Formats: sequence, C-alpha cells, structure tokens
Amino acid sequence: MLAGMGVSVSMLASGSRGNCAIVASACTKILVDAGISCRETFKRMKAIGEDPRTLSAILITHEHSDHISGLATLAKKLRIPVFMTGATHQAWSRAMRDENGVRPQLERFERFESGHSFQVGDIAVKPFTIPHDAADPVGFTFRAEGIKVGIATDLGYVPISVRDHLRGSDVLVVESNHDLEMLRVGPYPWSVKQRVMSRVGHLSNMALADFFTNDYDNNAAFVVLAHLSEQNNHPEIARREAERALATRGGLFLNRVLLASQAEALEPIRL
Ligand SMILES: [Zn+2]
Ligand SMILES: [Zn+2]
Repeated sequence: MLAGMGVSVSMLASGSRGNCAIVASACTKILVDAGISCRETFKRMKAIGEDPRTLSAILITHEHSDHISGLATLAKKLRIPVFMTGATHQAWSRAMRDENGVRPQLERFERFESGHSFQVGDIAVKPFTIPHDAADPVGFTFRAEGIKVGIATDLGYVPISVRDHLRGSDVLVVESNHDLEMLRVGPYPWSVKQRVMSRVGHLSNMALADFFTNDYDNNAAFVVLAHLSEQNNHPEIARREAERALATRGGLFLNRVLLASQAEALEPIRL
C-alpha cells in the first residue's frame, strides 16, 4: 500500500446488540470492539470492500457482551493481537469460562493501561477512562497521518477528562443512546432505566447536545452518533437534537452528522 492514503473509519455495527468499528491508515487496520459474531463481522467487512485478513489488531473498550461476543472466535481465526486492559481481560475471561471453569485463552493478548499511549503499526492509540459500569472501560483516540479519530461510547456523562481527550478529533464517534422521555415511558423495568440514566450508564441525546453546546471544539469534519437504543431512541430524534446543538455553535456546516446503525455497516468515512 502507498503511504499517505489517508485514514478511514468504518462503523460495522453500533448499539446494544453489538458494536464493531474499523479505524484504518494506509498500512494498519484496527478493529475496535468485537461485539458481533465473527461471521457477521466478516460479512459486513466484505460488504464495504474490506478483507478481514488485512486486520492488524483488535482493541476492546470493555467486557460487556455487546463489545466482546465475537472476540474469542475472531481472535482464533485471525491470530492477531488483542489489546485490552488487565482488568477488562480478567473480567472477560471470567465471564467466558466454560462449564468446567476453564477460561478462554487469547493467543496474542496485549495489555494496555488507560491513560498510556501505545502504537499499533503507524497508528498511535490513546486509551482514556470513561464513566461506565464495567471493570475498566475506556474510549480511544487514534492518530495517524495527521488525522485524529475519537471514539467514546458507553458513558454515563462526559467528564472534563473525556472532553479533553476528544478535543481536536477530525472524526468524532460519540454515544447518543436514548431520548430521556422515550426511556422514561418505555418498556424497560425501572431498575434498568435507572442503570441507563445513571452516571455510569449511557449518554442521552440531551447530555450529548449539552456537550456539543458547551464543551465541544467544533473541530470534527464528521460526527458519528453511535450506540443508539432501538427501544428508547429514534435516529431522527438523535440527529435533530445533535444538529440543533451543533447549530448553536455555528458548527452545523462544518460537521457532517452521520448515524451509526445496528443493522448494517456504514459507508467508510475517509479523510
Ligand atoms: Zn457497556
Ligand atoms: Zn455497549
């Protein structure tokens, strides 16, 4: 491959039934989360013209099943390094024990620590802590060829530290999980509603709009709304709230707002 071919972001799946994305430079291709089956991951990669055999590594944000359900099979098939924090790895292997208590093994497990940058090929990765009810959940920023990609989903609110990490992103993938009113009157049991709404749950359209209005630097060429709830949100509501908030900053014309989908891969975003 030629150098300087740019950076791309491909949202393969997003939502509570499975999350998976690809961040790629000309020579490195990172799978971010493995929350859909191996077969479905390969199918969706092929649909956007990507060859699974060209993946360089898998990075995991946290151990919830919608981020790891395809991991064991993908890692076995692809034999590429899998990066996660020690605590996430512990929680993952504990959750995946078989009936005899035997934990799954990763052939090539690479440990990282939140807050400490590392390199995958020519992509510099910075994991950062997000407020969510998992063992050691992280978001990521990726830098290659002068382009920065920020990914932060599964967070109860946007702390100052997260805002600082996301600053300067050219592609910003952020959670727009639920409409508060839809969640409030929706079918979830109250305990689940409380969990989603909590400071370690998921980010509402309104909380994201608040971030766009007050804390966002208006830098991204593309804003991807991700991890939308199928029960408690609607893509057009999420889009309208995000665009309204971005417009208050005069940013609507700078930011192209895209919606990640649970059902199918988005066309790759290329920069
Ligand atoms: Zn989660
Ligand atoms: Zn999730």
